[in-house]
Amino acid sequence: MQCERLIELAKTWYLHVRDETMAPARMVSFINDHVAQCDICQADPDIGDEISKITEIILPKSKIPKAVRLKQEQEAEEAIRQSALREAIDDNNGDEDNNLSTTDSKG
Ligand SMILES: [Zn+2]
Repeated sequence: MQCERLIELAKTWYLHVRDETMAPARMVSFINDHVAQCDICQADPDIGDEISKITEIILPKSKIPKAVRLKQEQEAEEAIRQSALREAIDDNNGDEDNNLSTTDSKG
């Protein structure tokens, strides 16, 4: 996912889906809805793959045993983390992205 707007939206939707306050199919339809009217998303060659990956993970949620479901949830999280949603979901993690480049200036 390259579209920051979609990442923001997907992050919010996914949390709702995880809390079971939103139907997975609803999230998928929202995503498709956004993509249909977003230039950035339509220019993203991976967007279809990302959507189908997320879709197939979240959609069968209610039909599968809990053990499998937990695994699928982890995979869903993984997929979304890779799409830069990580910051929002793992809110507790500190950012260790310090730029400590040692510039050696000799006088
Ligand atoms: Zn977009």
